Amino acid sequence: MSDKTSKTDVLIIGASASGLMCAIEAGRRGRKVIVLDHANRAGKKILMSGGGRCNFTNIDIDAANFISHNKHFCKSALSRYTQWDFIAMVNAHGIPYHERDLGKLFCDDSAKDILNMLLEECSNAKVKIQLNCDIDDIEKNADGLFSINTSSGNFQTASLVIASGGLSIPKMCASPLGYKVAEHFNHHIWPTSPGLVPFTLQPHDKGKLEVLSGISVDCMVSNERIQFKENILFTHRGLSGPAILQISSYWKPGETITINLLPELSVIELLAANREKQPQLKLKTVLGDVLPRRLLAVLLGADSIEQPLQNLSRERIGAIAEKLEHWQIKPNATEGYRTAEVTLGGVDCDQLSSKTMESKITPGLYFVGEVVDVTGWLGGYNFQWAWSSGWCAGQVV
Ligand SMILES: Cc1cc2nc3c(=O)[nH]c(=O)nc-3n(C[C@H](O)[C@H](O)[C@H](O)COP(=O)(O)OP(=O)(O)OC[C@H]3O[C@@H](n4cnc5c(N)ncnc54)[C@H](O)[C@@H]3O)c2cc1C
Repeated sequence: MSDKTSKTDVLIIGASASGLMCAIEAGRRGRKVIVLDHANRAGKKILMSGGGRCNFTNIDIDAANFISHNKHFCKSALSRYTQWDFIAMVNAHGIPYHERDLGKLFCDDSAKDILNMLLEECSNAKVKIQLNCDIDDIEKNADGLFSINTSSGNFQTASLVIASGGLSIPKMCASPLGYKVAEHFNHHIWPTSPGLVPFTLQPHDKGKLEVLSGISVDCMVSNERIQFKENILFTHRGLSGPAILQISSYWKPGETITINLLPELSVIELLAANREKQPQLKLKTVLGDVLPRRLLAVLLGADSIEQPLQNLSRERIGAIAEKLEHWQIKPNATEGYRTAEVTLGGVDCDQLSSKTMESKITPGLYFVGEVVDVTGWLGGYNFQWAWSSGWCAGQVV
């Protein structure tokens, strides 16, 4: 522990998406900015995001793509610093990128391009980044300045920005610091839970489905509140893939989800039409054109799919359609923070300014990014929230 004291205008805890964006904006305004992080490298989650290619935003950003106890809170920041603003920065740095399904934008080469862009902008704005820095305690002094004791010395600042993210992936340096600081300054925290996370299965289903590991299918996955049409992936632990990650953010323990494995067609019509034309065709031949046979064998039974269509009663066809279009599955649990992409819940938006992210309770204290109770869907929404909320605080700190 160093006994050096440094004074600064703006101190940001968290050198990743939201913290770096805030630092760039504040630095550009001529503020003296220091960013502290306990990790040995900035932006670790940026580097691992999007399978190493960083899905940095989405061309369709809407408040409906975010989960929060205050569904209006995110609107102001998202409209003041939009996906187009971030894309303009990416273009200005000549970073090659492409659009994938559902408006997702990814780097062509590497997530490093995004991190390097942010670090270059920080350097241009004379932002100082201090890594390997453990935060010991934070107080607000009588003179209105925040005092932050760390392993790199004491820092005094007028504006303190908490950009320390959520609890997902502790191995990547996630910590509860942001929630602790919020509580210390009398903020309410909505209970946190892992989001965008694979499901584990009940032992009975796991035993049956683990042979399908590696298979992926385009599906409609739903619960009583929402539905997502994307891929699901069978894994040796359970179920993953975009549609599963999306619904996991809306899942409550004990709840059943419904999977329509053939959202684009009617199984009854397909089987009835084929039975009419070619009654001797086997079930596995007809359905094997639209679904992997291994999956059919597990769900419908290996013997059953050998049956010719002419042997299938109307009731049996109805039961097959029900199984494939309304497959009900009750996950055992999620894989938890170990693999979750985000953390649901967090610092209550009602106690923050939606324009500046400043605390309504403690002036000079700001919360940006994932630590706030705003969680995006899969598809670049979480980074856009980090850029937008970080940018808003950066205008005023
Ligand atoms: C595997 C994975 C893939 C993802 N892919 C995407 C994607 O493609 N698109 C997308 O939009 N979102 C993606 N996300 C989500 C996205 O990474 C986060 O929502 C985003 O990084 C949040 O930014 P943040 O700045 O709020 O927090 P973080 O990026 O989590 O940064 C928090 C920073 O604070 C530091 N910190 C934490 N605790 C302390 C402490 N006690 N002391 C000092 N420093 C501390 C951390 O080291 C870290 O640098 C992904 C997440 C994961 C885990």
